[in-house]
Order: sequence, then C-alpha cells, then structure tokens
Amino acid sequence: MTLPGSPFLARRGAALELEGHLLADLGRRFGTPLFVYSRQAMRAAFQAYEQALSGRAHLVCYAMKANSNLAVLQTFARAGAGFDIVSGGELARVLAAGGDPSRVVFSGVGKTRAEMRQALQAGVRCFNVESEGELERLNEEALAMGRRAPVSLRVNPDVDAGTHPYISTGLKANKFGIAHGRALATYQRAASLPGLQVVGIDCHIGSQITQLAPYLDALDRLLDLVEAVEAVGIPIHHVDVGGGLGITYADEQPPQASALVAGLLERLDARGHGQRELLFEPGRSLVGNAGVLLTEVLYLKPGRDEDAAGDGLGKNFCIVDAAMNDLVRPAMYDAFMAIEPCVRRAGPGSTWDVVGPVCESGDWLGRDRPLAVQPGDILAVLSAGAYGMAMASNYNTRPRAAEVMVDGAQVHLIREREALSSLFAQERLI
Ligand SMILES: *Cc1c(COP(=O)(O)O)cnc(C)c1O
Repeated sequence: MTLPGSPFLARRGAALELEGHLLADLGRRFGTPLFVYSRQAMRAAFQAYEQALSGRAHLVCYAMKANSNLAVLQTFARAGAGFDIVSGGELARVLAAGGDPSRVVFSGVGKTRAEMRQALQAGVRCFNVESEGELERLNEEALAMGRRAPVSLRVNPDVDAGTHPYISTGLKANKFGIAHGRALATYQRAASLPGLQVVGIDCHIGSQITQLAPYLDALDRLLDLVEAVEAVGIPIHHVDVGGGLGITYADEQPPQASALVAGLLERLDARGHGQRELLFEPGRSLVGNAGVLLTEVLYLKPGRDEDAAGDGLGKNFCIVDAAMNDLVRPAMYDAFMAIEPCVRRAGPGSTWDVVGPVCESGDWLGRDRPLAVQPGDILAVLSAGAYGMAMASNYNTRPRAAEVMVDGAQVHLIREREALSSLFAQERLI
C-alpha cells in the first residue's frame, strides 16, 4: 500500500518509519500526543521550489502560520527562505529563529499600528497591503518614523480556487485583498503618499489548491494590472503569487511545485514579463507532508459490532489521546487525514470512528476507518505537519503536544510538552 504523504515516510515490515526512525518508539520515548517532523522532507519541499526557480529572480517566503516552531523556521532560514508573516508575533519568531527581516513579507487584513511600527523598525522587505484604510495608516506610521514603507497591494483577483469555502480567499465575497476594479486607483493613491514606496503586487487565492488553472487565471489578472499600473508611470518590481498549493491527504493529485512554477514562468514569459522577480508564499506544501501526529489508543467502544439493539445505527469508537485541540482540521474543515497504525497488527480489524477525549461530538480525527487496533497501540495521523500544532489550543485544559524533528540519524525535541501549571499561570484568584 502506498502512504499518502512524504517519501520519507515508509512502512518496513509491520512498522511505520519516518526517515528510518520507528514512530512507535518515538511515541513511547516522548509520550503522546506527539508531532514528529522530518527535516529532510521540509528541505526537499523547499528545494523543489528553488530548483524550479533557479536562474530567475525570485524569493520563496515560507508562510509560517502553517507551522511556526522555531526549529522549523530555522530550517527554512538556513535553506535561504524568506518568510510570509501575518502578525507581529510571527515577526518576533522569525527574528528569534535567526531569519532575515529583509526577506520577510507582511500579509494580513488587520495589521495594527504597533505591528506596522515593529515591522518598519525590523526592516521587512514589503507590506502586503489589503485595504485603502491600511494604506493611509501605514503612510502615517512610516512618516512618523521618518521612513518609507515598501508596499505591494494584495489584489483580490476574483478567481475560484475550487477549494473548501473556509480556505478560499480570492473571491469577491472573501474579506481579503483590494478589489481588482479598485486596484489601479489604489496604486495611484499609494504612489502619491510620501511615506510609501510601491514595490510589488500580490495575491493569494486560497489553500489546498489541486489545480494549476486558478493560478494561471490569477497571474493573468495580476499581469493585466501590472501593465495598467506601469502605463500610468508607477513601476512594479515584483509579482507575488501567494501560496496555497495543495498536498496529498488521501488521493488528491495536486501539481508538483516544479509544475506550478514551470506553468507560471511560461505564462510570465509569454506575456513578456520574464525578467520580473517572482515571489511565492507556500505554507502547507512545504511542511504538510513532512509531519505526523502520534496518538495512543485509550479505549475501544465497539458499539456497532456489539450492537444489542441490532438497528445498525451503532458505531465503533476508537478513543485516542489526541483530540480536536491538538489537530482541528477534521473538526473545522471536515478534512480527511489518513490514520495508520505505527505497528500493523495481523487480522481483519473493524471499522472505527477515531475520536478524542474532548467533550464535543465534533471531536473526531477520522470516520469509518478500517483498522486492526487494541488499547495501547500508537496510531499516526499522516500529513499533519501543516495547520496542526500551529492551530492547537488548550481547550478542555489540555496541555499542547510536544514536537520532535528527526534529521538523518538525529532526533531533536523541538518543543517540550506543555506543563499543566503553565496553562493557568496568568490567571488570578479574586
Ligand atoms: C495562509 C497564507 C499563505 C499560505 O497558504 P498555504 O495554503 O499554507 O500555502 C500564503 N499567503 C498568505 C497571504 C496566507 O494568508
């Protein structure tokens, strides 16, 4: 059987391994729930973009909201990546990980004055401005600091990325970006403001995109604007096509990063923009398939197999120690994530709903999964490197999981399991 996800994940005999490390052993050694990432898988995913862009002016900015652990950021910083940030907190993480602020682009619809000042102080490469109000405010803050803020306008190209409504961002109905029809006037306003320096244009049309066509449509819409804006005498240096490339969770077949890049470069060339610097903001496609979430089976409730009522409505529940607070994608996006035993058992097994201990019926990790399991077994939820730990919460006063990074022969604990006492350390009795 082929496993969705990373080529660094493989089954040898009955045992599941990541970069040759037995996942069951890592689960026992560090405890569960546990995120385990492959550093080589992250590097390889980044190199796929880099190689396809070699010889071109470009910058690949890792959209760090997908997984913002400092060791992950350090891995990408050392590989030469820039970063796409969406908050002052993320900027602080980039700096703490040794990242270069001059390779940072600052996205997001709700930047505060304090965040603008923090980013100007750090010297980020570019603000991806998402509204006319933000443009005016950024101009004020830059002037107050005696600086010029480099800006790109995030344009909403109004293309359908064909993805889940919650992760589609490039439609008129979404809150993101400046409407295509307003963009030229907004560029003219930006160029007239003394605290701003126009440097680029950007878009980001959604996430978990599995087709090339929406990217080409969005690029065409951006290039139409570039031509119109430059025709009125405002030079635009770079074109930033955002992130959003999908990964394989089940049987999706998204384009490879190399094919995405090749397709976009071909379109750029065809339209005479081949010399232009191209920026990317991939998140999920750099880290998603590099990680798994390990979880131990606590209890089995075979409500269907042992259904006394015989009405066929019962379900078998496999209750594990990871929950929606550790991995919210299934609950939040109805997302499918493959679940594999770390050591496969012989025998036919049953069909299980894999659920967590949180007091919500939405607390599930997988539904109707064929698995041969017993309490004490460790399961791996695959493709959990993106939007897993980064979206984890303390709901039900559950400490957040630990994180481990394997890298060749080495195993690094990159985040300790949260201590219970730290969960309410900021709270005060009256
Ligand atoms: C989230 C986000 C990305 C990354 O999206 P992925 O689907 O993880 O690649 C890139 N750019 C912006 C502006 C984003 O908000």
